[in-house]
Amino acid sequence: MSKVIVIGGGPAGMMAALAAAEGGHEVLLLEKNEKLGKKLYITGKGRCNITNSGDMENLFANVMTNAKFLYSAFYAYDNQMVMDFFEKEGLPIKNERGNRVFPVSDHSSDVINTLQRELKKAGVEVNLYTEAGNLLLEEREDIEELDKKEPRQIVRGVQLKNGLVNGKKTVIADAVIIATGGFSYQTTGSTGDGYRFARDMGHTVTEIHPSLVPFNTKEEYVKEMQGLALKNVSVRIYDGKKKLYEDFGEMLFTHFGVSGPLLLSASAMMAPKYTSKELHMEIDLKPALEEEQLDKRILKDFEEAKNKQFKNSIGKLFPAKMIPVILQLSGINPDKKVNEITKEERAAFVKLIKAFPVTLNGLRDFNEAIITRGGVKVNEVNPSTMESKIVKNLYFCGEVLDLDALTGGYNLQIAWSTGHLAGASIE
Ligand SMILES: Cc1cc2nc3c(=O)[nH]c(=O)nc-3n(C[C@H](O)[C@H](O)[C@H](O)COP(=O)(O)OP(=O)(O)OC[C@H]3O[C@@H](n4cnc5c(N)ncnc54)[C@H](O)[C@@H]3O)c2cc1C
Repeated sequence: MSKVIVIGGGPAGMMAALAAAEGGHEVLLLEKNEKLGKKLYITGKGRCNITNSGDMENLFANVMTNAKFLYSAFYAYDNQMVMDFFEKEGLPIKNERGNRVFPVSDHSSDVINTLQRELKKAGVEVNLYTEAGNLLLEEREDIEELDKKEPRQIVRGVQLKNGLVNGKKTVIADAVIIATGGFSYQTTGSTGDGYRFARDMGHTVTEIHPSLVPFNTKEEYVKEMQGLALKNVSVRIYDGKKKLYEDFGEMLFTHFGVSGPLLLSASAMMAPKYTSKELHMEIDLKPALEEEQLDKRILKDFEEAKNKQFKNSIGKLFPAKMIPVILQLSGINPDKKVNEITKEERAAFVKLIKAFPVTLNGLRDFNEAIITRGGVKVNEVNPSTMESKIVKNLYFCGEVLDLDALTGGYNLQIAWSTGHLAGASIE
């Protein structure tokens, strides 16, 4: 039996602690916050999109960075195992649109409570308000017998920055798992400490960028529509003439610009290259209709409202918050009678609906990013065990690694799979 320290009580750390305890080890989980899973609590807008129940191919296809590295982790502890785990431990789950899996209760707190109960049952010692400051290293005793590729150093424990374990600032262990998360939503505790630990151990940390993050926009009229969510629209994003992104779904106008699933995915497809350059976005507000069909529909609406003023004739076409903006951009005098609108004006109006213009001028920062792109370089970590190739008995799991995926439950699947593999790999 080894003594194992897990640093970080997020999803990856909790899962790693459980797997290590199942393997018969004595496990100490260190969390600097007052409670476990502070970020997990806000996932899925407080409902926690636990995983995605799609097939393996789909899981890999939704990983944006270093999908291949996840091969062993995903197969060793896949989405079905995650779902079985929660159901077996008394948390009923359900499938929603796009195979997104949520607790039936719609409360992320139930996911956290389930994990906490399991940690208790498994005998994991949880130390809250306990912040790891540094890792302790030693040269290996068997250094003479090692071949060239094997790590020369071995981890020996953790030096605490805050808090005490059994009255002590130094905690000795046979293995340490780093599960400190990334650098986004820092108020949840993910302040990038793991990157420093990794660098101190001789690991490379790739450049980090916010991903799954909203965009700032240039136009004031976008901000006037703040709070408005559009469903079933398609967006196209261009750099000059080059189309960078096109997709269909849901988006949101905010006080600074645009957000919602479509834009978050766009940021993940485009980061890190496009951070502040001005990009042209077109929103197709009626993607189900070709221009010609839309023109016919508008002609019909205009026919029915021919004696009304233009401003009073478009209520059926757009949500209320959008109407003043549409009137402003249409170039048509809002007081004009509908039957006086020219063919050219109507054609321009159709174009506006099919390509509502927005200028993107930069991504929001880490504090609003769902995920951090970049992290501990994966080719310095063994993909079959999550053990460091540089320091023996040191493991990494979760978002601290250079791994990230799109929205849909994939990022938590990364945390569960890598966490489980790290914990289960300890000898
Ligand atoms: C708003 C939001 C919504 C999201 N929704 C979803 C979703 O629905 N589905 C999905 O799949 N993904 C979602 N994600 C992403 C997902 O939350 C993360 O990918 C996941 O939490 C990463 O898990 P982790 O355990 O690696 O890190 P974290 O959850 O960040 O946990 C790391 C923990 O380590 C602790 N820690 C850090 N440094 C130290 C230290 N020095 N000593 C002790 N403790 C330390 C931190 O306090 C923290 O509790 C969302 C993210 C955000 C921000």
